[in-house]
Amino acid sequence: MLADDRSLAFVSRMLDPRLRTIALETKGFMPADEGDALHAAALDAGTRVPSLPMVEIGSYCGRSTVWLGAAARECGVPLYAVDHHGGSEENQAGWEWHDPEVTDASGRIDTLPFFRRTIERAGLTDVVHERVGDSHAIGRSWSSPLALCFIDGGHGREIARGDYAAWSSHVAVGGSLIIHDVFQHSSEGGQAPYEEIYLPALASGSFVEVSRTGSLRVLRRTAPTQLSGA
Ligand code: SAH
Ligand code: MG
Repeated sequence: MLADDRSLAFVSRMLDPRLRTIALETKGFMPADEGDALHAAALDAGTRVPSLPMVEIGSYCGRSTVWLGAAARECGVPLYAVDHHGGSEENQAGWEWHDPEVTDASGRIDTLPFFRRTIERAGLTDVVHERVGDSHAIGRSWSSPLALCFIDGGHGREIARGDYAAWSSHVAVGGSLIIHDVFQHSSEGGQAPYEEIYLPALASGSFVEVSRTGSLRVLRRTAPTQLSGA
């Protein structure tokens, strides 16, 4: 009996295979095992902090959004997908992560049509709500507490720092701050998510780390945001 319950719990924490195939066929930068961990962490956050929305910073063509959106659907909450869809620095022409297929007629990156197609294919249009614009501006005017904030936006220092400043305080106590591309050593990758988001979150005393998969770090808020000087 117990064994059955456990296996059911496990099955319900894996993404539906049809949606997982769509995620894996979508252009982007989320490895399969990290996407699965993201999905499980989102189900966990949505169970701990019910009824609050989830936010993704940096959707690109919607690859990670499928894992998160499916979890949001299971939890009965919306997922807001924030991206200006103009690509990060490293996606621009001449950089390592440039894909000429995601440019518009004028040669500028525009991932929005790809993102919309992915969300339609996945049947998640009623759950995933696009918020097209600058993540700092959107975060500063955000007012709802969140069950989860997943930060996978620009990896320049200023942008990562701004995402932490604009979004971390919106995560409700018990909710999760999830960060992608966290590399402790510069030999593994860029340091901005590690130094400008991950370390400050832990140093704030408001978050603890609960899991690691590849470069994905799941933190949980254990205390309200401390006001400096208080
Ligand atoms: N999560 C995606 C990858 C995101 S790539 C996946 O699973 O594949 C990073 C994204 O962040 C890009 O689409 C880029 O347009 C977006 N981005 C970078 N800086 C941003 C900013 N300041 N505001 C909004 N979006 C930004
Ligand atoms: Mg990433």
